[in-house]
Amino acid sequence: MKYMAEPYKIKSVEVISMTNREQREQYIKEAGYNTFLLKSQQVYIDLLTDSGTTAMSDKQWAAMMVGDESYAGSVNFQHLEETVKKYYGFKYVVPTHQGRGAENLLSSICIKPGDFVPGNMYFTTTRAHQERNGATFRDIIIDEAHDSQKEHPFKGNIDLTKLQALIDEVGADKIPYVCLAVTVNLAGGQPVSMENMKAVKAICDKYKIKVMYDATRCVENAFFIQEREKGFDKKSIASILKEMMSYADGCTMSGKKDCLVNIGGFLCMNDDELYGQACELVVLFEGMPSYGGLAGRDMEAMSVGIQESVDDEYIKHRVTQCRYLGDKLMAAGVPIVKPVGGHAVFLDAKAFLPHIPQDQFPAQMLAAQLYVEAGVRSMERGVISAGRNKDTGDHYYPKLELVRLTIPRRVYTYSHLDVVADACIELFNKRDNIKGLKFVHEPKLLRFFTSRFEPLK
Ligand SMILES: *Cc1c(COP(=O)(O)O)cnc(C)c1O
Repeated sequence: MKYMAEPYKIKSVEVISMTNREQREQYIKEAGYNTFLLKSQQVYIDLLTDSGTTAMSDKQWAAMMVGDESYAGSVNFQHLEETVKKYYGFKYVVPTHQGRGAENLLSSICIKPGDFVPGNMYFTTTRAHQERNGATFRDIIIDEAHDSQKEHPFKGNIDLTKLQALIDEVGADKIPYVCLAVTVNLAGGQPVSMENMKAVKAICDKYKIKVMYDATRCVENAFFIQEREKGFDKKSIASILKEMMSYADGCTMSGKKDCLVNIGGFLCMNDDELYGQACELVVLFEGMPSYGGLAGRDMEAMSVGIQESVDDEYIKHRVTQCRYLGDKLMAAGVPIVKPVGGHAVFLDAKAFLPHIPQDQFPAQMLAAQLYVEAGVRSMERGVISAGRNKDTGDHYYPKLELVRLTIPRRVYTYSHLDVVADACIELFNKRDNIKGLKFVHEPKLLRFFTSRFEPLK
């Protein structure tokens, strides 16, 4: 079977509201052509993000009922600690309210002004925390990742030559850690090979540089290793995940993605000193090291989610759903990022709307038009998300100007994805009528969340 059917059945449903085109034209105008500013009841199929939008299982909901809400030493924290140690293998775990809480701790502790943090393409909140602490981010992903049409089994890999060149240029003492994302969200959910993780670790060990993973979608990454990398096809997802983590000194984790929960995250490390510092700082920003901004019940649901996430059938279905949507779009000639990654299908807005220059925000407009077409909410991942260079004030112009159709975990069926595909194909057929946008409001930080626009005449 090419597309795996759901390895679960539906026990509870949530009714979604339907709207007509006239209403949607009004709603998107009121939202300043920014899909982040739509109200959720205005949306039919919500592919804004896979973050925190997961459907929890009956076992996770049951776990919510055994929340131990003690201020200190909650039994749910003990379960979380055991589970993370078992599946991720790190020595220490500090819970945080979500991934960026862990990023804040890591960046605040490890970065000094003037440092450099290399990574395999940036992520919005990750880079913002690095820069806020005085570091310069350097992209050291392989060149293929910046070309939406290049097929590569591990398009998220770090270019080892670029890593070595940065070490030679600035010196190892200016690099507190390498931030290695598995998978790479902004490249299209592209995985990193085990071989590459091992090689990065070897170089970093030589220079005593830490390797910290952004482990947000590490289970999806493990699936691609099982599927594509020589010698891993007979290994379980759980054992691949554990091996991946053995080539890191720690990780930040957004539980809202691969841990199958609606809120939660954590920071892991093996280093005693780093753990001590994280335990001090977490009290300031999140709470006691035994709850880190989470309720006991949230930690319990995350423990169960971690166990469910490494089920081989679950993850196969998850990635298959994305591939189904991608294959339908490719068959109709709609330009998307290839190969399809683990959590989303990315429309290539530059190829979709070649008549709109990048400074008129083609991806932003494409996302708005997809909403008007069928009530499907997606997100821009292009020049608006990339922001401005803090020194020159100019826009960053990323090579990839994308619209992300993100598939929430265990939420939508193949029929929903048919609606999404049909809407994209319909828009593609009338693409010449779509015009660009201009800013009417632009916030300074993470502008994609709250910017407002007007269509150009
Ligand atoms: C979502 C995400 C984060 C941040 O996690 P939050 O839980 O949203 O704070 C970090 N890195 C990547 C790759 C992500 O997708």
